[in-house]
Amino acid sequence: AELELSKMGWLLDMTKLRLGGIIGEGEFGAVYEGEYVGQRVAVKTIKCDVTAQAFLQETAVMTKLQHKNLVRLLGVILNKGLHIVTELMIKGNLVNFLRTRGRSVVTSIQLFRYSLDVCEGMEYLESKKLVHRDLAARNILVSDDNAAKISDFGLTKVVSKEADKAKLPIKWTAPEALTKEKFSTKSDVWSYGVLLWEIFSYGRQPYPKMSLKDVQAKVEAGYRMEAPEDCPANVYSLMKLCWEQEPRRRPGFPKLREKLEREMGKRSPG
Ligand code: ADP
Repeated sequence: AELELSKMGWLLDMTKLRLGGIIGEGEFGAVYEGEYVGQRVAVKTIKCDVTAQAFLQETAVMTKLQHKNLVRLLGVILNKGLHIVTELMIKGNLVNFLRTRGRSVVTSIQLFRYSLDVCEGMEYLESKKLVHRDLAARNILVSDDNAAKISDFGLTKVVSKEADKAKLPIKWTAPEALTKEKFSTKSDVWSYGVLLWEIFSYGRQPYPKMSLKDVQAKVEAGYRMEAPEDCPANVYSLMKLCWEQEPRRRPGFPKLREKLEREMGKRSPG
């Protein structure tokens, strides 16, 4: 995989990278802001027991993906571990973004835009037959021009969240994925429903005040979250469609996009 990346020009030159301060803390190491030949970038360092080789394999997947709603990979640097260099998403992750700004700053139309952005990114991933497995607002980043982009795609498979059940994000993972490890685009759709809930609640923790154990048992028995405060009824209906117990009954991302666009059309002037 290393050879492949080098051939394709994805191996970057460490000497051309200027590292700045830490802007985030990831599961596998710090995230830095920096500059690479004049472009502002984010640098994710990977220090964990997963081999750099395995990450390179996944990064190879990322190199094949390009979409306005996916955080763009610039390349990787191999230097005492792996550094993944991506475009800098100056406004950080969507959870913090919505929490810090809140209802007085972010309009409901903007909430629709973020939802649509993520949906379009997922539609693209689906078209590439890729399953994200960790779709959640914390993995959505906001650009300086207010576009929402999906990050962390392709990485989740390597860290084998499927092998390590303890690490599954219970509140975001579809029942069949939790119990039978059946991950699919339709399990991503379930997570997208939870993400919609996060967006329209301005970054609240899903299933507030419920323990993980309770969530899993209750959801399995048919319990679903209530609508966030002031959430448009049609958006809540979409969430509930995403949370159909039977994966086949959940809509696909193209359908979700259509429905979101229709709702937005009713609201935005012109
Ligand atoms: P992990 O998935 O390993 O937990 P993340 O990719 O979620 O790590 O990164 C952790 C945090 O670092 C994010 O929540 C975000 O605030 C920040 N971050 C990550 N990538 C970028 C980026 N490209 N631009 C700006 N901030 C980023």
